[in-house]
Amino acid sequence: MIKIGVLALQGAVREHIQMLKNCGATPIEIKRIKQVDDIDGLIIPGGESTTIGKLIVDYGFFDKIKEFANLEKPVYGTCAGLILMSKRVIGESIKTLNIMDIEVRRNAFGRQIDSMEVGLKIPKLGEKEYPAIFIRAPIIENIGEQVETLAKVDGKIVMVQKKNLLVSSFHPELSDDNRIHNYFLNLVDKIL
Ligand code: GLN
Repeated sequence: MIKIGVLALQGAVREHIQMLKNCGATPIEIKRIKQVDDIDGLIIPGGESTTIGKLIVDYGFFDKIKEFANLEKPVYGTCAGLILMSKRVIGESIKTLNIMDIEVRRNAFGRQIDSMEVGLKIPKLGEKEYPAIFIRAPIIENIGEQVETLAKVDGKIVMVQKKNLLVSSFHPELSDDNRIHNYFLNLVDKIL
């Protein structure tokens, strides 16, 4: 069985764990760096990127996650996780992992739109729209070479992939559609 770690420092951990179970994977709550040696893929959940980012440094995960991604192991960042995987946060000085060649803007859908559900077209997942839940979500403003855009909302990029790395600015663990977790599990399976 594929073992997927969910970084469990802060944020929407439980929902990812449940979704992974539903998809037939073995989820592991990651609280210590040693556990990373034992997993096939990692999810960095949504939450508050400044808090998760600080805890990543405090608990020694900073180099560990970079090393994991550089070994071409799959990493999926949702919302705050996307922010933390990015190269740079425009207009802010958050220390990011810099493993995904994208520049992002936080809380980019405007203050008045705290959360929204959008029927998203994600061609890689088939015809049926994906019910994407956005909560104070970031957008991806610039992407580097070999970064593939998987979905946009009103022309704004909200989901991309670069080889083993996947990010989305919405929360797939909060909807009842498991296609994105299955897509990530397929990625892990291919690399194993
Ligand atoms: N607004 C949060 C941040 O910038 C992200 C929100 C989320 O993960 N749902 O860190």
